[in-house]
Amino acid sequence: MRVTWCIVGAGITGVTLAERLAREFGQRVLLIDRRAHLGGNCYDAYDARGVLIHRYGPHIFRTSDRQVWTYLSSFTSWRPYYHRVRAVVDGQQIPLPFNLNSLHMLFPEDEARRATQRLLGAYGFGASVPILQLREQEDRVLRDLADFVYEKVYYRYTLKQWSCQPEALSPSVTARVPIVLNRDDRYFHDAYQAMPVHGYTAMFQRMLDHPKIHLMLNTAYRSVAEEIACDHLIYTGCLDEYFEGRHGLLPYRSLRFRDTPVEQSPQQPVATVNYPNEYDFTRTTEYKHLTAQPMPCSTVQAEYPEAYVPGENEPYYPIPRDEHEETAQHYRRAAAVLSPRIFFAGRLGEYRYYSMDAAVARALHLFQEEIAPCALASAP
Ligand code: FAD
Ligand code: UDP
Repeated sequence: MRVTWCIVGAGITGVTLAERLAREFGQRVLLIDRRAHLGGNCYDAYDARGVLIHRYGPHIFRTSDRQVWTYLSSFTSWRPYYHRVRAVVDGQQIPLPFNLNSLHMLFPEDEARRATQRLLGAYGFGASVPILQLREQEDRVLRDLADFVYEKVYYRYTLKQWSCQPEALSPSVTARVPIVLNRDDRYFHDAYQAMPVHGYTAMFQRMLDHPKIHLMLNTAYRSVAEEIACDHLIYTGCLDEYFEGRHGLLPYRSLRFRDTPVEQSPQQPVATVNYPNEYDFTRTTEYKHLTAQPMPCSTVQAEYPEAYVPGENEPYYPIPRDEHEETAQHYRRAAAVLSPRIFFAGRLGEYRYYSMDAAVARALHLFQEEIAPCALASAP
């Protein structure tokens, strides 16, 4: 088969690049994925009882990037949605990120008031403070509070999720969920927070609805590589897999999901409840909070972290640790040498812990800066 562009991986990165190449330049794109569906980890579908669920864990859209918001809004309308998460600590469901409400739920009034005053004095109202930073405080009251929150919220959750302690990871990981010095219980603080009205899969289908895009599912790249003649390849699968592990294997974390159908909803007060201290799973999500589907039954999904084993499960998370970053840099340098014949993009293709909006922002940037010039050069 002869095409101008072959894109490996029909996740949000591959779909965005396919859409841009076809609509902007009218170029032929072959988009292949080894899974049986498009959308990568953002894929959503109706379960047997008609409840819309996310097959690979809860995906909440949020961004402060206006370009990303405007771009995706061409393919979907949105339902405003503010994600809320509770963490079970000492038998109570406290708001997460840990904020002034959480503090007042867990401590006697006078202690909570004293800690609040110290926090506000040190950082100011509305500040976001990463837990590892708060633990370095010299103020004894704040350090004791930090140790408490670290122990009750971060330590065991991180052990379950990553199989290592918080300090062994890049500080950016736990900083994703900082201590927040206000009483705003929303999980995110981005300018745009919403869910696609008909789901992510429907949004991706609209993005790919173009005669120049050919989607080939159930197809691993290696199994067809020799039959595809393309001018350019865009690879959004694992960076180390492409290079057959030449610089060593990059590790990933995987997950198992357990869906429990329930007859009555809501089962949980908010969409997601985290269990830092109990059970083998990290969190449970009740999807109807995300979708507002008007039906009595519901589905609750639990996430069980596990090691990634190629061929057995999926590589959901790159593991942000210094030693892996070094290995990833070897691969990124090897990848850069192949440009512009081959481009690497996405969470797996760049080995970066991208959220959906960051993946789209990166794809749009790559398109603008590097891919569009190639497309122009190869235009008939
Ligand atoms: P992927 O979605 O991983 O797509 C890559 C695709 O490539 C896959 O479909 C794979 O099958 C295919 N592929 C790989 N190798 C090959 C090969 N050799 N041949 C053929 N096909 C191949 N982001 C948010 O913004 N908000 C959230 O709430 C959120 N929650 C998340 C929850 C979980 C549990 C996880 C795991 C991620 C979450 N994310 C969230 C992140 C989001 O999933 C990613 O940002 C996004 O999926 C990245 O898209 P991608 O296209 O780069 O990669
Ligand atoms: N985290 C934690 N306890 C929690 C929630 C998060 O320790 O209750 C830490 C944990 O290390 C986690 C990281 O913060 O992996 C980032 O959390 P986030 O909710 O952003 O993870 P994701 O949705 O990407 O799985």
